[in-house]
Amino acid sequence: MTNDDKTKGPGTRLAEAGRRPEWTGTPGAPGAVVNPPVWRASTHLYSSIAALKAGGKGQQDGDFYYGRRGAPTQWALAEALTGLEPGAAGTLLYPSGVAAIAGALLALVKPGDHVLMADNVYEPSRHIGTGLLAQFGVTTEFFDPLDLAGFADCFTPATRAVLFETPGSLTMEVPDIPAFAAIVREKGAVSLIDNTWASPLGFPALERGCDVAIMSLTKHVGGHSDVMMGSVSAGEELYGKLRRTYLQLGQVVSPDDAALALRGLRTLQVRLERSAASALKLAEWLAARPEVARVLCPMLPGAPGYETWARTFTGGCGLFSFILKGRDEAARTRFIDALDLFGIGFSWGGYESLVIPVDPAGARSATSWPPAGMDPADRLGVRLSIGLEDPADLVADLDRAFARMEAD
Ligand SMILES: *Cc1c(COP(=O)(O)O)cnc(C)c1O
Repeated sequence: MTNDDKTKGPGTRLAEAGRRPEWTGTPGAPGAVVNPPVWRASTHLYSSIAALKAGGKGQQDGDFYYGRRGAPTQWALAEALTGLEPGAAGTLLYPSGVAAIAGALLALVKPGDHVLMADNVYEPSRHIGTGLLAQFGVTTEFFDPLDLAGFADCFTPATRAVLFETPGSLTMEVPDIPAFAAIVREKGAVSLIDNTWASPLGFPALERGCDVAIMSLTKHVGGHSDVMMGSVSAGEELYGKLRRTYLQLGQVVSPDDAALALRGLRTLQVRLERSAASALKLAEWLAARPEVARVLCPMLPGAPGYETWARTFTGGCGLFSFILKGRDEAARTRFIDALDLFGIGFSWGGYESLVIPVDPAGARSATSWPPAGMDPADRLGVRLSIGLEDPADLVADLDRAFARMEAD
């Protein structure tokens, strides 16, 4: 059954999702606890041979069978994610976001096929194309995610799948996904989108014309920097196909991790709203600084991608980048090392703020970095993930770090 329940708002759905009485209760006392407990299980027991034989039949989420097919903790999380994605028939849980992207692509292509990837996808996604898929006789080519007019010409008769990401990793371009996805459909291919940044709350990807919506749950669904996981959601037809490959690859996530992700999911909406609002304040502040050449935050009016974001998204998050004005590597290092409230580390979407230096040039092949129109001297980037700290404290921290950058 495909989810198109729009009668309740996302906050209500986040509170209710996955809490079926048979998953939260004990026999005879359904709904006895609020959250589905951690059902830690490899073996599922049958009462008789007849029950064992019957158990092998359905094998969908919700049917007890064997630990690799999950148990109520994982089913509850998958059901909750499906409930958030209008148009989804089901959700598969992978042990990381990268595993989700690789698993989805492997399910949809065969030797001889051609895959298109937006030039701004997460760098490990590129490596799936140039490494894993190439090993299986699938060729991958990259396209400019802002060149809608040239997109149709990128297809060959063998093009089966197109991977998008919006906004793009590090450089934050916002392609017009509904327009791109319509071309993918016309060409008879399947569109996948890495929707980690916005989640379905900020970008209901299937409703916007994509066929497969992927997220790294490690980021703001987990939300507390303590769990790795990925998800793939799709409508009825593709979900079955994706699930077959998923089962053949033997993918499963632990119930402990699923419980953590489910806990994070309950507060996703409030955390996203808060971190997006703080990010916007910081982006505005940075845009007025003399040390900054450009702020790459599509939620900021006037920034690159703002118009497309405002037209096609319903929300954002706390992740954005900015480019320093003509400073050198040593200056950027002084700036980042001087920050107190921003941890230096990969990943994002946690309750705590993070920073990393970014140099996208090496991960681009169909576009150039810095982009046309920017002074080539302005090329060193910084990516911020804004957490739940008070924005005034974060501004003060950035201010202090700029002073340190200029002092030495
Ligand atoms: C982090 C990230 C991933 C990969 O997720 P993992 O859970 O770390 O494997 C995929 N896409 C985007 C956009 C990411 O930021």
